[in-house]
Amino acid sequence: MPIPMSSPDLTAAESEAVVAALQSRTLGSGPCVEAFEAGLAAYVGVGHAAAVSSGTSALHLAIVAAGIGDGDLVITSPFSFVASSNVLLYERAIPIFVDVDPLTKNIDAALVEEAASDLEAGGERARRWLPPCLQPARASAPSRLKAVLPIHCFGQPADMNELSETARAHRLAVIEDACEAIGAEHEGRRVGTFGDAAAFAFYPNKQMTTGEGGMLVTARSDWDATVRSLRNQGRDAGDPPLMHARLGYNYRLDEMRAALGLVQVQRLDELLAKRARVAGWYEEALAPCTPWLDPPFIAPSTTRMSWFAYVVTLHDDVDRDALMRDLEASGIASRPYFPPIHLYPFYRRRFGYEPGDFPWAEDLGRRCLALPFSGVMDEEQVNVVTSALASAVRRHRKSAVAAAVATRQRR
Ligand SMILES: *Cc1c(COP(=O)(O)O)cnc(C)c1O
Repeated sequence: MPIPMSSPDLTAAESEAVVAALQSRTLGSGPCVEAFEAGLAAYVGVGHAAAVSSGTSALHLAIVAAGIGDGDLVITSPFSFVASSNVLLYERAIPIFVDVDPLTKNIDAALVEEAASDLEAGGERARRWLPPCLQPARASAPSRLKAVLPIHCFGQPADMNELSETARAHRLAVIEDACEAIGAEHEGRRVGTFGDAAAFAFYPNKQMTTGEGGMLVTARSDWDATVRSLRNQGRDAGDPPLMHARLGYNYRLDEMRAALGLVQVQRLDELLAKRARVAGWYEEALAPCTPWLDPPFIAPSTTRMSWFAYVVTLHDDVDRDALMRDLEASGIASRPYFPPIHLYPFYRRRFGYEPGDFPWAEDLGRRCLALPFSGVMDEEQVNVVTSALASAVRRHRKSAVAAAVATRQRR
């Protein structure tokens, strides 16, 4: 039996809810969307939640609500899914990448403080943080640093206390990309409650799903009103049909997906507990493998991990790509999470990035491997994956290969 990268955790309750939504004949936006928003806001512990069509659209609307536009600078991480940075490009803003902490894989908060100070100072000090292509044009221009956009990578909260401190000191908006981290807690506080806004995503590989879907949460009623207008073609609350106050989008979520999402929110603690149990099995099974891989590192400040993926970091002498090919031949999926964003061809062309610009993100990009992971995996499947991994490593670890060759020669 092949083992896929992920599978959603669905029960009869989800099917019944979707069918009931269908039978209601409302289909567009209605009571299920409202109930889903209320349920998610209550779970996260935040005042407002607006359901949208994807995590990417939630992030995009947060950028627009923050007033980020042409030429504005936003500090973010290069070690992420491409959407967290693409939403800046949609508004012609400029991502200022700051390298990550190699242990947590989250943006390095001390470097963010340094970058914010230097960008505020401008001139020569700002140069070091600006993308290569923009250096001559902008080195002397006053900085327009507007926001910081941290990602809670693989379900582990970024260092939100320190990042919030920096944001306060430099008057920056904070937009949390919480698409991989619903329910995670940093020093006892849930992600989504730190920033001016946060985005959640419900693609089928996330901790909870609506098929496609997302949610923008905020404590700010002004942002919430803007986002509700923007997702609905720029119509303000109370506007008659075909009255559009601003340029908007169709980023709405429908009743069927909201009905599915509501059941998943109601089951969210159960969903997260099942994923944590699978992560525990991996941790146990991989304990003998630490000579050639590092299991996920959980920071002491992470008081609740929300397991999105199970990502190991292979040591330098393991040939990851050969390993992935062997796993695939045994029917086991795996992914090289994440190729760093600044090295995608369109980022290199647009901003002039080169290999070596963000060494930790690139190092992780070369060595990280996401193993099959979901709340519906059983212990047997985890053991199949880890045994296949261990036997593939015997073939593809340079020092092990060298040792085997030496043994053969001695014989
Ligand atoms: C999943 C994800 C998103 C957005 O996902 P959608 O597919 O648009 O719902 C954004 N950022 C990160 C880090 C993600 O993992």
